[in-house]
Amino acid sequence: MTNMKKMTMIPLLASFILGSTLWSGGFTANAAAAATTSTTVPPSATTITDKSEKPQTNNLPNIKILATGGTIAGSSAVNTDTTDYKAGALGIETLINAVPEMKSIANVSGEQVVNVGSPDINNDILLKLAKRTNELLARDDVDGIVITHGTDTLEETAYFLNLVVNSDKPVVVVGSMRPATAISADGPFNLYNAVKVAGASASKGQGVLVLLNDRIGAARYITKTNTTAVDTFKSVEQGYLGAVVGDQVYYYNKSTHKHTTASMFDISILTQLPQVDILYEYQNNGRYLYDAAVAAGAKGIVVAGSGNGSLSKTSTEGAEAAGKKGVIIARSSRVGSGIVSPSTKDAASNFVSTDSLNPQKARILLMLALTQTHDVKEIQSFFNEY
Ligand code: ASP
Repeated sequence: MTNMKKMTMIPLLASFILGSTLWSGGFTANAAAAATTSTTVPPSATTITDKSEKPQTNNLPNIKILATGGTIAGSSAVNTDTTDYKAGALGIETLINAVPEMKSIANVSGEQVVNVGSPDINNDILLKLAKRTNELLARDDVDGIVITHGTDTLEETAYFLNLVVNSDKPVVVVGSMRPATAISADGPFNLYNAVKVAGASASKGQGVLVLLNDRIGAARYITKTNTTAVDTFKSVEQGYLGAVVGDQVYYYNKSTHKHTTASMFDISILTQLPQVDILYEYQNNGRYLYDAAVAAGAKGIVVAGSGNGSLSKTSTEGAEAAGKKGVIIARSSRVGSGIVSPSTKDAASNFVSTDSLNPQKARILLMLALTQTHDVKEIQSFFNEY
């Protein structure tokens, strides 16, 4: 190795070692603090860290962080562990304290809404989170909201909020793929960028946004595409809305679907959502799962159909029998991208097609649609517009 090469490598190596020591040291200390917090704060408690709740007098935007758990609040005793950690282990104060740089771009305060892995986010939590988001956005001293969330079902929560938030102030949902205790954790920078995006005036009116890995995605279009990779959130067909690069927020696209202030869905008086289940198409399937879903009280069934929303003959029997009982059948696809096109035969069987919504997002829209109507044509129009 030449002397020149040695000279350039040494500072690089030193900064990497210093960097990883700083992060793992900081997170180890914070994890210990959080372990204390999580034993004293029940998982469903709401903690307000900024007790003064007074409007700030500087020129920075006032951003509220609503924490729900997930890997971004995940912790493990081993800093190379990226799979066996505990999601939703750290409290909101620990997350905020781990990224003091946020204080130079916003007046940040946090609330713990729940602290769970996102597979455990349910309809009750969705309603609670959405109501709190609307309450906060109605206040003059709140300019934007950041929601920390597990990545597994993040797109479902983001799309739900996209349909029920009644403000054009920015709402940014953020997660991470590596737990807070990991070397090279992606959470801290994602959180910093999410606060940056929530405080940017260009984010107003863009609908609910998803921020991971420097990309800004629309809740309507973005989906998790990889089980473990850091660059898992993609908008395969429609593309990202923008990016955060070098402390600047860039936008290039807009969502063309109705959202937030243009949405007709209102959850303010709802205490529950109708039961909608998802059934998956596969070879040799039977109709019994349709019968079971109807017997269990489903008002809607989303089918993760094969190809362009196809159902086998046996599924069709089950779905048509459910349709005759008033259950709406939404044909989506298990393929992962593309549009499920409408069929002239849909309405007669109480079927709708879900456009480019994947099954899990189609379920969110169908639940909200069923709070308004059971008319199959009206519900199809929601799938065309939202
Ligand atoms: N299982 C975690 C969750 O969704 C994964 C993550 O957050 O990345 O809560």
